[in-house]
Amino acid sequence: MSTSVFALPVSLALHLLTSAAPASPSPATAPVKPPPASAVKGLTAAQLDAAGRLVGPALTEGHSYARLAELTDGVGPRLSGSESAEAAVQWALRSFKADGVKAWKEPVKVPHWVRGEEHGEIVTSERTRGLPLSLMALGGSAPTPPEGLTAEVVEVGSLEDLAALGDQVKGRIVFFNHDMSEAADYGRFAGMRSRGPALAAKQGAVAALVRSLATASLRSPHTGATRFDEGGARLPAAAVSVEDALTLHRMLQGGPVKVRLVLGCSELPDADSSNVVAEVRGREKPDEVVLLGAHLDSWDVGTGAHDDGAGVVMVMEAARLIAKLPQAPRRTVRVVLFMNEENGLRGGRAYAEAHAKELPKHVAAVEMDAGGGPPLGVSLHAGPGGEALLRPWLAPLDGLGAGRFMVGHATGADLSPMEPAHVPFVGVRVDSSRYFDVHHSMADTLDKVDPRDLSRSTAAVAWMAYALAEAPALLARPTGPESDNPPPKK
Ligand SMILES: [Zn+2]
Repeated sequence: MSTSVFALPVSLALHLLTSAAPASPSPATAPVKPPPASAVKGLTAAQLDAAGRLVGPALTEGHSYARLAELTDGVGPRLSGSESAEAAVQWALRSFKADGVKAWKEPVKVPHWVRGEEHGEIVTSERTRGLPLSLMALGGSAPTPPEGLTAEVVEVGSLEDLAALGDQVKGRIVFFNHDMSEAADYGRFAGMRSRGPALAAKQGAVAALVRSLATASLRSPHTGATRFDEGGARLPAAAVSVEDALTLHRMLQGGPVKVRLVLGCSELPDADSSNVVAEVRGREKPDEVVLLGAHLDSWDVGTGAHDDGAGVVMVMEAARLIAKLPQAPRRTVRVVLFMNEENGLRGGRAYAEAHAKELPKHVAAVEMDAGGGPPLGVSLHAGPGGEALLRPWLAPLDGLGAGRFMVGHATGADLSPMEPAHVPFVGVRVDSSRYFDVHHSMADTLDKVDPRDLSRSTAAVAWMAYALAEAPALLARPTGPESDNPPPKK
């Protein structure tokens, strides 16, 4: 519809949020008055009442942002295997309990990689007095010898460039350069970080430097996972800031450049950890599950506010608000806070394995893992007829700016192990255009998340979860893989 049935509540909520301190709950806690049933075709009065009870408090209570402050400032960075990752598990269990939502832990064995001392420099030569590099080891990196290593740098612009060099990279540091400039570039270049170092190691390189995958930089390196094959060659690998990548590139135009690198990271034995699972049981079909996912772990730098604290608080808040409805939706809404999305995906795999028998009854899955930006719309990975089935349910999203279908991916990494079971994926898409400014960097802190944007996306998630659990009919299950979907528009 052209004018929003929720225009008034949204503007009221935004007014309340702008006039109050960001994290303090607003005094307006009464459910937002729903529009008359006649205003929205296809939804019953009870369903519209639920829309008011979900969207209104999500926008006005400031609860999701207060929760995010607890997780980021209170628990802090929470890399898999660390003490703070365990503290995050305990925090989530306590929070669900306080919300009156039943929750439990499910076991996950996780990698336990630990960052150590790390620095590097362009070595003094006849052309330069040398320069320190702003860098950060990639998760999964091997250490250098304690005294460090020094080698000549060879630049490549792609994995194909690397392959073409063959054993010319032997004994050298491979520098992966690219020109990421917007969020949509991430998928194109991420392979250089995740697979490049392993391929360089196979060709005899002694270390790898990867230009940070970032859309903004004040000389801040952005880390991320790199994968080596089991029992295969490994090497020390670090992300350098965009500025340092540009400097290396310029210097390499004028002749050979040597870099000295010291990385003190280590890989400890796998650690015991957990996914946190919580649910609101369905009133009619409790065995049919609508899954809401986000990942509880983060990198060990910054405090994982956008990645993925924002997603965590959105799905927790959705469960809290749905649990408070006078009547539970038809189906079960299950929240899964996955462990180890960042450097192993062990939580996603453990969930799909432990719940394999139930997956045919997972009727929809949503993963929020694209930051705390405002909501934009809904994307689907389902069988035919999905849009027609959900269209009437988009009306309450109009006032949030998200009442439309979008092409592009609907999944998240933690959901990918459920693909073979043909679970329909529903993407509640948020604006991620500034996500990679801070992603995986020291700068991913609470102050980067706008409380109003977060509350709007939280409202959208809460409503879509309810819609999927309440709609009379089920989404048809997808037949092909998610990668068959057209890529997101630039
Ligand atoms: Zn993430």
